[in-house]
Amino acid sequence: MATNRTFTMIKPDAVSNGHIGAILNDIIAGGFKIVAMKYTRLSEEGAGNFYAVHKERPFYGDLVKFMTSGPIVAAILEKDNAVEDFRTLIGATDPAKADEGTIRNKYAKSIEANAVHGSDSDENAEIEGSFFFSQLERF
Ligand code: ATP
Ligand code: MG
Repeated sequence: MATNRTFTMIKPDAVSNGHIGAILNDIIAGGFKIVAMKYTRLSEEGAGNFYAVHKERPFYGDLVKFMTSGPIVAAILEKDNAVEDFRTLIGATDPAKADEGTIRNKYAKSIEANAVHGSDSDENAEIEGSFFFSQLERF
């Protein structure tokens, strides 16, 4: 059964291009509630672990370099059918293929610098949220 939470990051390109506010507006207008949020910067080890599923992909090294290139915003979001609805809101991985009006269509520059992350399953949403937010917190 689908849970009602997903995890997102506003990636370094969107942070450095000044899109944090606009992206958060789109997320809230899309019906998502922000449950937890953090402005931080990933270490190489942290980004490597976060994207470990892509370790064998040719773009892995560049992806880790990109994700550590500047600050990010990490957040846990809540909405019915959160994982699927959030991926609809952000659009395709490649912004050139992202539907009109989606976050990646509006704010992403390339398939790598694609403005936001969205979890791809309930299980990964839980794992990824736990990566950034401690069990000492209550949300
Ligand atoms: P994310 O997991 O960040 O939400 P996604 O699920 O749409 O994105 P994945 O296939 O999980 O896409 O890829 C993870 C990230 O790796 C992408 O968001 C992008 O930053 C980068 N990436 C994916 N494919 C490529 C590629 N062909 N070249 C360069 N970078 C890529
Ligand atoms: Mg993914």
